[in-house]
Amino acid sequence: MSGDETNAISDAPRALLDLTLEELSAWIKEQGEQGFRSKQIWGWLYQKRAKSFDEMNDLPKSLRAKLTTAFRLFPGEVVRHQIAKDRTEKILIRLNDGEHVECVLMRETSRNTVCISTQVGCAMGCVFCASGMQGLKRNLSTAEILQQLLLADRLQDADEKITNIVVMGIGEPLANLPGLLPALKAVQSEESLGLGARRITISTVGLPKKIRELAQLGIQYNLAISLHAPNDPLRTKIVPTNKNIGIEEILSAADEFFEKTGRRVTFEYVMLSGVNDSAENARELAQLLSGRMAHVNLIPMNSVEPLEFAEPSQVRKDAFVSILERAGVPATIRKRKGEDIDAACGQLRLKEKTVVALEVK
Ligand code: SAH
Repeated sequence: MSGDETNAISDAPRALLDLTLEELSAWIKEQGEQGFRSKQIWGWLYQKRAKSFDEMNDLPKSLRAKLTTAFRLFPGEVVRHQIAKDRTEKILIRLNDGEHVECVLMRETSRNTVCISTQVGCAMGCVFCASGMQGLKRNLSTAEILQQLLLADRLQDADEKITNIVVMGIGEPLANLPGLLPALKAVQSEESLGLGARRITISTVGLPKKIRELAQLGIQYNLAISLHAPNDPLRTKIVPTNKNIGIEEILSAADEFFEKTGRRVTFEYVMLSGVNDSAENARELAQLLSGRMAHVNLIPMNSVEPLEFAEPSQVRKDAFVSILERAGVPATIRKRKGEDIDAACGQLRLKEKTVVALEVK
């Protein structure tokens, strides 16, 4: 899919995705059009996978012309598209201000999961992560978050559907709740992608106030917390933002999330060889989490140039899992997807930046 197809002819600055159904209805009314037209347009956007206004062939031509003048379908365009051997697909989207974000579609037998980004860059500075290497540029708007889901939706065959969303791409989702929450709401409704909150996972570096804010909403999202270490000195080395937060505060906010939503919290743990993967680390982690309704998701380190962190050997990973399991803490090792296309977040954007920088020189 090329950018031209998705944004078809219009240079209009405003993205249709910036409008709620109510706002679209108000615009339709202003134009003197019949009220039901807004639902038709909504259907083309969220269910019939339209890539241009011209495709909306049950709308009068005059209305299609008005839409083309007033709106762009999406607030960005696909500038790179890669397909891996396991059919994982990754798109790089150029936003209207020239910034880039990434989004990944992962296929498994009975689920199609989309991984979305919430910010351009990231301020958290986790030492093994590509997304934060050049700091935070800005938050994404709701429309810019939504367009990732809708563009990924359009990569699929007619008989495929998005079944799950993971907010695990570039950025810290809880630092952009005003952008994220309306986007997630938009895809939950039946007239849209119909994805219930239980099929959506929000991954956070662990911002306790924001976790509590999310808990207060009482929506049954899955929460994943990037713990990566069982004690504060080690965690602060790996996740520098921990310095002013601390694991205890994070766990207490996670407990509140579980109480308010009834959803078991997942703790992510990127295994870095020789850094946080010892038997002692595993025992400490088990002690921290046993007795909690928790699940540990061990993530194999994806290599990021020029960083030198490495993935532990299989023997070491298995030993870590069995220590957790013997202590009654359920743990799984995350499967790798799309390895041959750098599907791990942040890498394509960094490469694009390098290419652009070289071209400028
Ligand atoms: N900022 C959020 C969400 C984005 S990152 C968070 O911190 O959770 C999603 C997950 O991928 C996080 O657990 C993050 O630590 C992990 N991750 C980042 N870079 C990685 C890498 N190079 N290899 C493996 N996992 C990585």
